[in-house]
Amino acid sequence: MGMIIGMSFPRNDKNLGLEPSILNVLPRGSNVEYCYDNHDFDDSAVEMYLCSVYISGMAEFKKWAMRHDTRKIVVGGYHPTMFPEAFLNYADKIVIGPTDDIYATLKRKSTPFRLSRYDASKIGNDRFVGGHLISGDEWTDYTNNLVPLESVVENRIFEGALTFSNLPRYDLYDIGRNQQIIPGKKPDDLVTSVNTSFGCPFKCDFCCTPVMFGPRLISKPLEALSREVDFMKAHLIHSALLSPASVLRDRYVFVRDENFTLQNDFEERLRIIARLDAKIYMFGSANTLTKKVMDKLKEYGVYMICIGLEDPTKTYAKNKTLDKVVAGLKDRGIYTYLSFIVNPLEVVGAVKATAFYKALKERVYHLMPEMICGNFLMPFPGTPIWDDYYHLISEDDFKEYDSKTPFLIKNRVVHDKMRYYMFKFQWDYFMSSKYDQQVRDFEVEDTLHLRFLELKRYFDEVYRSIAIVRP
Ligand code: SF4
Repeated sequence: MGMIIGMSFPRNDKNLGLEPSILNVLPRGSNVEYCYDNHDFDDSAVEMYLCSVYISGMAEFKKWAMRHDTRKIVVGGYHPTMFPEAFLNYADKIVIGPTDDIYATLKRKSTPFRLSRYDASKIGNDRFVGGHLISGDEWTDYTNNLVPLESVVENRIFEGALTFSNLPRYDLYDIGRNQQIIPGKKPDDLVTSVNTSFGCPFKCDFCCTPVMFGPRLISKPLEALSREVDFMKAHLIHSALLSPASVLRDRYVFVRDENFTLQNDFEERLRIIARLDAKIYMFGSANTLTKKVMDKLKEYGVYMICIGLEDPTKTYAKNKTLDKVVAGLKDRGIYTYLSFIVNPLEVVGAVKATAFYKALKERVYHLMPEMICGNFLMPFPGTPIWDDYYHLISEDDFKEYDSKTPFLIKNRVVHDKMRYYMFKFQWDYFMSSKYDQQVRDFEVEDTLHLRFLELKRYFDEVYRSIAIVRP
């Protein structure tokens, strides 16, 4: 029996990461392992490589795959879902969409893919593969055998199956590596994560969730969630025992659902998760956080809700009640984590940048959340905004899909200035007397404070190099 190896591209980041999603797919068995550093293997000892590939990990994946027997490689995740054709030369099987059961997935009927006709001598790259999944009118032609067989790829691309019958292989992972930036969380505190549903029915034009999961929210059965939570609790206790510094420390659990409170039975789900005796934090959408819902969150001791303020110069239907919600969470002693988006193309030059940060400051200093987090706009292939930006994005930019890099700006000085000013906005907020007086003490050596000290040292250097240079 050969080994089954789980891997994530880009490789698991021990500073900011959580449990890698590939653990949800790895089967049971003593021949299964998770590889942290994406090293090379002897193919003869391996039965199957299961690789999750995110957009920023594509370059690393390609290099690794070219050193291995691609007939043993199965890929899944966002990038294979969006661009299955990009993997036809690097993997044997390509899984699109979410899955938690690799064997059930590979037993499904494959999704046919039609290759584009192209002249290899003109493309100049004989590893290039173009084409599309067969659907719509073409599907009728395909089922009537009207599509030339030589142009159709079969048995390579599979839609992921969700069976909820397998426990994620968290036992293969050291949760001591999980480090999340959370106000109040000390470095030795343990953090773990759980998914109770997949997808989101909203259609925010910049978000890749609807692309990955379709316009549905798929809930995990309560019984499967309950089994998983019991298993995680044992793993948490075991991990705390392995790390003496963590035994008496706080524990946190991140509910990774895109929209947890949208589920009618979210209270039952909270009751199950509360069995972990951990501080619970989760994503939330202001429009789903009614008074009744917030009361329930308080009842189960929810610690923090992460809400997207998004671009402060735009209005979002989901954020109509944001002010009331943030105030309601404060009243109930629940922390708010507000994330905002900076579109780099909208803050070019001092006038536009000043106007943007003024608008952002008004919103943030009015809402006074415990945590803010800035992200640069990342147009994802497949999202409604992609058409407006794809002409500015090359495959090389995919490496920088980390939300902290304004890759839409090609001038490195402007690029670095934008990174600096986004950091500085957040630093100024946390160090403001208003935050100190109205929110909480920032300088408490939790992961939020320590991370910002690290960033401060880094950006002081960046500033020294950009302050004297005009773009
Ligand atoms: S509500 Fe959140 S997860 Fe849902 S589409 Fe909008 S940004 Fe994405």
